Amino acid sequence: MSKNENNQRNMINVAFIGNPNCGKTSLFNAFTGARLKVANWPGVTVEKKEGHTHYHDHDYKLVDLPGIYSLTSYTMEETLSREYILGDDVDVIVNVVDASSLERNLYLTLQLIELGKPVVLALNMMDIVEERGMEIDLHRLPEMLGIPAIPVSARKKTGLNILMHAVAHHKDKPVDKTEHHHSEGQHIHRHHDEFVLVYSDEIEDKIDAVKNRLKEHYPDMKNKRWHAIKMLALDDEVCKKYPVEISDIADKNYESDIVAQKYDFIDEVMEECMVNRAEKSARTDKIDAVLTHKIWGVPVFLGIMALVFFFTFTVGDWLKGYLEIGLDWLFEAVAGFLAMCHVSDWVISLVVDGALAGVGGILSFLPNIFILFLALAILEDSGYMSRVAYVMNHIMGRLGLSGRAFIPMLLGFGCSVPAVMASRALENPKDRLRTIMVTPFMSCSAKLPVYVLLSGMFFGKYAVFAAFSMYVIGMVAAVLVSVILNKIMKTDHVNNLLIELPEYKTPNVRSIWIYVWEKIKEYITKAGTTIFVASVIVWLLMNFGLHGMVEDMADSFGACIGKFLVPVMKPTGLGYWQIVLALISGIAAKEVVVSSLSVLYGITNISSASGTASLVNLLGAQGFTGVNAYAMMLFCLLYVPCIATIAMIRQETKSRKWTMISVCIQLGTAWLVSAVFYQIASLFL
Ligand code: GDP
Ligand code: MG
Repeated sequence: MSKNENNQRNMINVAFIGNPNCGKTSLFNAFTGARLKVANWPGVTVEKKEGHTHYHDHDYKLVDLPGIYSLTSYTMEETLSREYILGDDVDVIVNVVDASSLERNLYLTLQLIELGKPVVLALNMMDIVEERGMEIDLHRLPEMLGIPAIPVSARKKTGLNILMHAVAHHKDKPVDKTEHHHSEGQHIHRHHDEFVLVYSDEIEDKIDAVKNRLKEHYPDMKNKRWHAIKMLALDDEVCKKYPVEISDIADKNYESDIVAQKYDFIDEVMEECMVNRAEKSARTDKIDAVLTHKIWGVPVFLGIMALVFFFTFTVGDWLKGYLEIGLDWLFEAVAGFLAMCHVSDWVISLVVDGALAGVGGILSFLPNIFILFLALAILEDSGYMSRVAYVMNHIMGRLGLSGRAFIPMLLGFGCSVPAVMASRALENPKDRLRTIMVTPFMSCSAKLPVYVLLSGMFFGKYAVFAAFSMYVIGMVAAVLVSVILNKIMKTDHVNNLLIELPEYKTPNVRSIWIYVWEKIKEYITKAGTTIFVASVIVWLLMNFGLHGMVEDMADSFGACIGKFLVPVMKPTGLGYWQIVLALISGIAAKEVVVSSLSVLYGITNISSASGTASLVNLLGAQGFTGVNAYAMMLFCLLYVPCIATIAMIRQETKSRKWTMISVCIQLGTAWLVSAVFYQIASLFL
């Protein structure tokens, strides 16, 4: 749609932009009513989301952009957001800031103002500001910045109409005060009627000189001042896009001077506009003294994760008991119904031993999954997850890795697909590639049923520890493999994470519910689609051989495939064709390992006490013990991720070669780790 058409229909294009965690997505949702995932791990909003709202006689198209700290072009998010807001598709920029920590948000604001487009400042989280007794001078702030500032609260839904009103009002008013005022060759700095950031005379003169040069070469260029400033800071993208010789004007890179003067100006703004500058709340400081402690930080993190898994197992198992009763009843009813209809035996077997055993096996882990995601959502929404990234940043830095790499890894606890995508937050391509390759080592939620089942069957009261160890081993493997890869593919520079720690918040019930519900829906959908199909395929492979339907499963196609790979898997303690087949089918989705086991061993209620007992007996008869079970958990943790993740790796690396390499590294690591474990453990046990 062209801009003209938009204007005729009074459509205003608004882009929401701001630091991570300032509440952009919440504000966007408050306007559009969309139930988008509100997740505050930095880098979660990777792609832009669009929605609509209207107020009086205007329609607004809103776009939620990824959170960024600045408009340099160091990260993919920054580059994407910058390109987007510079384009014609944006009429007004709404700069969302966390008003309770205005100081660190203003840096981006100053850069946005420099763009010269209409900017409206949305002072979000005003409820927190008030709660803390802070006061912002709402007269002086817009005066100093030269843009309107509207107090809002996405959570309390206050100020929303006024914000849109201001947007409509200012859509045709670009910030023109950024022009440096010359009058008869004199620099004039009159503090109270000259607004906005003015740099030192030296830099202002250079900006003017570059602007004149740009005028000669690119007469149609908009935002010349911004481009001139970016050129003085030797911004890669801008210099490449508009090649102009300026070496006679600029004898050095002015980036650090420009940055420093921006911060000086921010100090001035804070000095004048924050009447009651509340320090970071004492509560947050006190909690952080422990949670982000140099030495205690990591053990505390591990402790919290251990607690999460303790609940996942105990409370989860308790709830699972009830779910199973329901599922059992349902399956018997289905089997009874089929028998009543006199359908042939193989159909009953396909439905009961294939589809229902597989899907039901997975559905019965729903309570565990629910609790895991509930706990992750609470940790995330309270602000703790940012702390983990902060604590790990130190360690990653020590190991020569980028601190940012830990964010995708943390997301990997949930699901590797968004985690791989989140690696976009890494600025260095090699760092990115490495992170993409190791992120799948993190224990995603789909691996949980495998642990619950195997550790429950073989480790009795130590089950929680056995499962928890997988999470630790996954993290260690991810970090170690990165270190090794780093040694091989040297990275020239490492950027550490400049993470801002948000205040601790009481988690918001609605955002947690939205998050958990999304995950539960995904899980159920997966059970009904991927796992259903995989179970049916496994059943077919198990019941058909070269000569049609087989009596003995050992003659089936599935057995042939499994047996072919048994020699390779022998050293890992997993040299059983059924196990091999289950692992292969797990590439469809990790939960399928469990559903396949139930189909392979003909157990309909795999997660119930009687089901596991008979599986233990069947496996035990083959010589499969606790040691084998632990080796299998290790293998499941580390081997190739599911198809969806592989597809995402392919999409993000844009390279078949690197996708292959990544799959090989994961397979190799899994084989090596489980083989070493199995061989050593077999010596002692
Ligand atoms: P984004 O990263 O900028 O998209 O930020 P989110 O929308 O994900 O919000 C980050 C966190 O701040 C979430 O926990 C929100 O519930 C919380 N939040 C957002 N807006 C407000 C607000 O106006 N008041 C309060 N108290 N919390 C808010
Ligand atoms: Mg967001």
